[in-house]
Amino acid sequence: MEQFTVIGDKLVVKAPAKINLSLLIAGKRDDGFHEIESVMAKVDLYDELLLERSDTEGILLVCKGKYRVPATKDNLVYKAAELICNLTDIKPNIKITITKNIPVAAGLGGGSSDAASTMLGLNKFLNLGLTDQKLHELAAKLGSDINFFLGSPLAFCSGRGEKIKKIDKIFPFRAILIFPDITVYTKKVYENYKHNEELYRRLNRRIMQMINENNIDLLTRMCANMLAESCYQLHPELLSLKSRVETLAAGTVGLSGSGSTLYCLLSDQDDVERYQAIVKNDVGCDSTIVNSNRW
Ligand code: ATP
Repeated sequence: MEQFTVIGDKLVVKAPAKINLSLLIAGKRDDGFHEIESVMAKVDLYDELLLERSDTEGILLVCKGKYRVPATKDNLVYKAAELICNLTDIKPNIKITITKNIPVAAGLGGGSSDAASTMLGLNKFLNLGLTDQKLHELAAKLGSDINFFLGSPLAFCSGRGEKIKKIDKIFPFRAILIFPDITVYTKKVYENYKHNEELYRRLNRRIMQMINENNIDLLTRMCANMLAESCYQLHPELLSLKSRVETLAAGTVGLSGSGSTLYCLLSDQDDVERYQAIVKNDVGCDSTIVNSNRW
């Protein structure tokens, strides 16, 4: 499965979801943002963007698919398209159709991924020849997680999330993503977060060592997420869901980003269908099986 498909004079771009294999908070910065350190991995659950020329001037957005986001100027796809089009003298007449398959505000980075794919896609579609560096500059302006989605499938992200260091090790995995029907607001999770410097230092030491030794497998088994406590405080029902899943799971259950998606890495021996049925019937949650993304 490739990221770009040309269909006649249209371009289809895939926008993958991510999970945070680890997420540490290094502290709060003077500008109010938190300094994070996260190992992020793309997975093969995709939104799809269809880029085509339209008859009307400007950027026209259409949203369809399983999940809904407003087709307005607030949409990150619109903002990304505007940033790119503003670099050229050409008045855009572009239609972008987003098919949302990634749950929204679920810790899976769907909005950021859509924005990154819009940039990559328009660069191709309009033959702009923008360099990686330029795209990264624009991405950092627009949001925190967008830079990750411009690059490799596995990376160590720091700063607000915009500083990316590729992890060369190939770490193929299969995971179950569990979608509790709980809306978590990232902003509230950060506001409720209480920093624990001692914990950060301890986790940072262990995780940096694992990254340096390319021991991503062990890192994932820690499921370190320093936002989890704040998220579970705000949503105790999510913590009890996680505990129930843990009694069923073969491995540790992690929280992606600020929630609410829970994930568990699966081994080849796991009976995936049975597992999904149990999650649906006993825990009452939808789930999907994903693989690590190749690009
Ligand atoms: P993160 O893990 O990066 O915090 P998330 O997965 O929790 O992200 P998103 O699905 O990216 O959350 O959505 C975050 C917010 O961005 C939502 O409030 C949503 O309304 C807004 N948004 C704007 N454009 C989009 C888009 N194209 N897709 C999804 N959300 C979008």
